[in-house]
Amino acid sequence: MFGRDRPNAASDWTETMSETHSGGCLCGGVQYVVNGPLRDVVNCHCGQCRRTHGHFAGYTEAALSDFKLKRSDSLKWYQSSAQARRGFCSICGASLFWVPEGDDHVAIAAGTLDKPTGLRTVAHIYVADAGDYYTIADGLKKYPGTSTTTVDE
Ligand SMILES: [Zn+2]
Ligand SMILES: [Zn+2]
Repeated sequence: MFGRDRPNAASDWTETMSETHSGGCLCGGVQYVVNGPLRDVVNCHCGQCRRTHGHFAGYTEAALSDFKLKRSDSLKWYQSSAQARRGFCSICGASLFWVPEGDDHVAIAAGTLDKPTGLRTVAHIYVADAGDYYTIADGLKKYPGTSTTTVDE
């Protein structure tokens, strides 16, 4: 059924249908695949991200239905607020996932993706909470708080 459109494989539809991403933590105890598109990366400067990642955190996002854990031996969850929990590796300490309660998406720390990601960084959020030891000067959009509804083009 793909055959007829194959010569013009550059169409967005074909790209999306065949898109697969993989990633994991430093020790390999947590590995995942995403069989679908990823959102471009947003850097979050909130105090929770800074404390769990050690700096601001670049996150992409996938539909939960596209997301599969290949290995989760060392995956642990931390309820970081009433609204969300964070998935991390209990062996190497990697921070990998942020899952809002009742949502059908998972935010994935972009640094845990295997290359090439095909992604780009598009914005900064929670800049009102940013650390005071760095400057955000890359010209990307900056939002004082959340902006997930407007960042996605
Ligand atoms: Zn690990
Ligand atoms: Zn954050």
